[in-house]
Amino acid sequence: MSEMKDDLQVLTSGRVSLKGLLGKAIGLSIRNRLKKVDYRHLVSPFRERNETDGRWRCEFWGKIVRSAIRSWHVCPDAELLTLIKQTVEDICQTQTADGCISSYPAQLQTKDWDIWGRKYVMLGLARYYRMIEPSEKVREVLMACLDHLMGQVGPSHKNIVDCGHHGGMAASSILGAVIQVYRITGEKRFLEYAQWIAGQGGSRTESIFQKALDGYPPAGLGNGKAYEMMSCFEGLLELYRETGNPEYLETVKRFYQNVREQEIFVTGVGGLKDRCGEFWDLGRLKQTHCDAGILGETCVTVTFIRLSLQMLRLTGDLYAAEELERSLYNGILGAMLPDASWWMHRNPTPLIGPAGKVRAGDQLPGFGEDCCLAQGPEGLATAALFAVMKDDFGPVINLYEDCQAQVQVTNQNQVQILIQGGYPVHSSVRLQIQLAAATQFRLSLRIPFWSRKTRVLVAGEEYTAVPGTYLRIERMWKPGTEIELEFDLSLRVLHAPDGSGYVALRRGPLVLAQDSRLGDVGRPLPCNLQGLLLEPEPPQAEIPTIFRLPDDSLMCDYASAGNHFCPDNTFCVWMKTTDP
Ligand SMILES: [Zn+2]
Repeated sequence: MSEMKDDLQVLTSGRVSLKGLLGKAIGLSIRNRLKKVDYRHLVSPFRERNETDGRWRCEFWGKIVRSAIRSWHVCPDAELLTLIKQTVEDICQTQTADGCISSYPAQLQTKDWDIWGRKYVMLGLARYYRMIEPSEKVREVLMACLDHLMGQVGPSHKNIVDCGHHGGMAASSILGAVIQVYRITGEKRFLEYAQWIAGQGGSRTESIFQKALDGYPPAGLGNGKAYEMMSCFEGLLELYRETGNPEYLETVKRFYQNVREQEIFVTGVGGLKDRCGEFWDLGRLKQTHCDAGILGETCVTVTFIRLSLQMLRLTGDLYAAEELERSLYNGILGAMLPDASWWMHRNPTPLIGPAGKVRAGDQLPGFGEDCCLAQGPEGLATAALFAVMKDDFGPVINLYEDCQAQVQVTNQNQVQILIQGGYPVHSSVRLQIQLAAATQFRLSLRIPFWSRKTRVLVAGEEYTAVPGTYLRIERMWKPGTEIELEFDLSLRVLHAPDGSGYVALRRGPLVLAQDSRLGDVGRPLPCNLQGLLLEPEPPQAEIPTIFRLPDDSLMCDYASAGNHFCPDNTFCVWMKTTDP
């Protein structure tokens, strides 16, 4: 049992079925990507231990299997389950008598990306144990894996921060996996090992944890590599759950707040500076700079989503919920092909001026995978974990996309919640409470910060809804009770944080974009758009969500913008306005 209890809990497998934009994408992602992966090929580097060029083929198995398990959790598919079971069996068979599962030959182990890759194997197996089957075999494999690592890296061996890339941050991010193995095995030595890892501070040059607690900006921690860094903080949260040490939680809270305020773009994406968009570099400020580098590695968005879900679960932080919604509807849906068969690495390049979307390539020529292609489906499937959750008093609704959810409310009774209305494109949402018999419980409804005026009627009775809070309704719920919500989807004009005069438009959680299929890209916007109510226009070919501005020009949602994935399909997010 963990020391600290989460505020919000994720529901068990198959309890939340999303049917809107995100739900359809999850279904496509399973059908067109996750069931088409050659899982045997992903295991081959482990079978052969031939990763002698110091690369990261070792990360793909764990990343993709984690994506597959999370997707199966929210949308149980028998064929996908068979593939997962087979590949778990396959990777376990690569374990040698010394407990090692690695793609690196013995003499190169602990160097380059080896520990990073072993982390993903352990995370994949741990998720299998937790979400699919508490298999004794998997438990033993995990225990042997970690004991093997502890024989190579530890207090009397090599230091974790002296292993691998990014100043030891990549290797140190194994912290979360170590906690998972501790939970599964109950072996105290693993918890002590996790505490030792955290004590090394995550980086060769300094303690990124201490600096984060002291309020340093994320760009100033270690070498600034965004998702390795966030993974270390994710691990620290897991250590907090086990130890209850309040300093760990405070450290991650400060780090998370700084990431939100300094690094995340208007589309819920982060990462810039290099040619792949993978570092922190005051990205929120620089998203409208032409020389900011390439923007927005999808892995950064996915890891930010995972960290946001952790913050929401542990603390009920509604800023984290708002970030999740924004990243999912913009950065995540916007990073995949419309049929979910492939993903982008950079999302997009850049946010200012016309740019196009580009499919992720073959990152290690001949291997056929890309890190973002591997992790994209994981971020997407998180939508269903976040949409409907529960606390000690009843269901918690975070997302109003069309959905069907079942939540246990008492030992005997479960409530079925039906959500309809076409959110987030349409503003009216109907929620129906289906029960076998009248039952007392508390229903929590997230009122987004962006919805400045929200009308809530429960069986005809009006409730006051405050933006950025949960509206808590405790009552005796009768079968068939209807809740009506009316969100404020009026247009918000967002000004570029660097004062450059560029603006972006948001309608509810959707960021709008100019798309070359709908008109000139980069043209100035009419002024006085703030607060306008725009109704959706009829869809066109590949663009389902289109809005007409007062000057008769058309814009679409960011996710659909550029989704033809060819160089002449450009789009733009930040624009100038015509002079008043
Ligand atoms: Zn990536």
